[in-house]
Amino acid sequence: MHSSHALAFADIDLWIFDLDNTLYPYPPGLWAQIDGRMGGFISDLLSIDAVEARRVQKDYFLRYGLTVRGLMKHHGVAAGDFLAHVHDVDLSPIAPNPALGHAIAALPGRCVIHTNSDQAHVSRVLARLDIDPALFAAVYDIEGTGFEPKPGPRAYDHVAAAEGTAPTRAAMFEDSARNLLEPHRRGMRTVLLPTQCDIASAGKNDPHIHFITNDLTDFLTGIVEARKLGGQA
Ligand SMILES: [Mg+2]
Repeated sequence: MHSSHALAFADIDLWIFDLDNTLYPYPPGLWAQIDGRMGGFISDLLSIDAVEARRVQKDYFLRYGLTVRGLMKHHGVAAGDFLAHVHDVDLSPIAPNPALGHAIAALPGRCVIHTNSDQAHVSRVLARLDIDPALFAAVYDIEGTGFEPKPGPRAYDHVAAAEGTAPTRAAMFEDSARNLLEPHRRGMRTVLLPTQCDIASAGKNDPHIHFITNDLTDFLTGIVEARKLGGQA
């Protein structure tokens, strides 16, 4: 990263990280596993075949922004049961990345996670990554945000209310471009980690994406270095 980019983060003291596909890239097949388990849960719950389960899942996702909300509202499903089922996947293909943990640890200020997944999944992923969960002052998961998923504004309201930091002093890191629209509107600094997924990357050239990086560790290290130099000047 060019040092002038790093200087754009000179006054940031709240660092908000998405989890999946941001702190680590989805290993091939992992998303398909999670997606398949959502379908399987619905299929079993409603005694319908996979095609019909898929239709229900899409319908709830489109109507409520989150499959689990439709299941809670229409079928009285306990969110924890659904989330535990869909995230019961093999995370062993996720490579440990302690260097990223060191880069996060060096950031001045608070680091938090804001994810549409749940706390148990966050814990399992961080353990796989070999990143100390204590580096994050808070984890805002889908339960903690009142089942209001990103990119909806209420998801960000929950985090903003809990943190109390001026949005202009916060930076958000995401693999989904649309999840950065609301942070940009609020005055946050936005960083996109582009992926192969067309849906996530749609809009990556729009003005609400302030920075793009393929290497989060390098990007964060650049910020810390620039702030050290700034402090000496
Ligand atoms: Mg993500």
